[in-house]
Amino acid sequence: MKIVAIDGPAGSGKGTITKIVAEKLNLIYIDSGATYRCVALAALRNNLKVEDKEEIIKLTKTLKIEFTKDGRTILNNEDVSKEIRSKEVSEIVSPISSIVEVREILVDLQRKMANDHDVIMEGRDITTVVFPNANYKFYLDASIEERARRRFKQNEEMNIHIPMEELIESIEKRDYNDMHKPVGSLMRTNDQIYIDSTNMTIDEVVNEIIKNIK
Ligand code: C5P
Repeated sequence: MKIVAIDGPAGSGKGTITKIVAEKLNLIYIDSGATYRCVALAALRNNLKVEDKEEIIKLTKTLKIEFTKDGRTILNNEDVSKEIRSKEVSEIVSPISSIVEVREILVDLQRKMANDHDVIMEGRDITTVVFPNANYKFYLDASIEERARRRFKQNEEMNIHIPMEELIESIEKRDYNDMHKPVGSLMRTNDQIYIDSTNMTIDEVVNEIIKNIK
C-alpha cells in the first residue's frame, strides 16, 4: 500500500492541498486532525474540561469516528463536519490531543483507516509517529499572517466569524502547544520534503507535491 504523509502547522493549507492531491492521484484522503476534533467536541458536549483527563480517555474509547468518501466527518452516526471547526473546539483540541492515551487510541484508528488502501493523510505527527515508514513525507508551512488569512477565508465560507487578530493569537497558541507535546509533537525532520507555501498558489503546491511523488 502506498502512503503519503503530510504534516504542518494550523492553516498551512494541508487540508485543501491534500484533498486535491488525493483526487488527482486516486488516494483516500484522511484528515487526522478531525479525529482529535471529534474527541474535543464530545468532551465539550459532555461538559468535560481538559483537566478531566481520565474521563476524556474513557470517552475517547467509546467514540465511533468515520469519514465519508466525500470528506464529511461522522461522529457516532452524526455529521459533525461543521461543529468540529467551531471556535470552542479549536480552543481545546490541542490540549486534549496532548493526552498521551488519547493519542494512542486515535493513532491506532488512523492506522486502521489506512488498511488496504493507498492513502494520503495529513496532521502533525503523520510523518514521524503514525507512518514513519510512509513512502512520501512532506512538511507544509506558511507564514503566520498567511495562515491566519487562509483560516479567516475558510471560516467565512463556513459562516464562522472570528476576527483576524483573534485568529492570529489562537493559531500562535496552538502552534506553540502542538510543537511542545510530550508525544506526537509537530516537528521538522530531514526526511520530509519541506514546502513553504506562503507565496505559492494552491495549484503550485499541488504540482510540487505530485512532482515529488512521481
Ligand atoms: O489539523 P487541525 O488543525 O484540524 O488539527 C486540530 C488539532 O489536532 C491540532 O492543533 C493538533 O493539536 C491536533 N492534531 C494532532 N495530531 C495530528 C493532527 C492534529 O495532535 N496528527
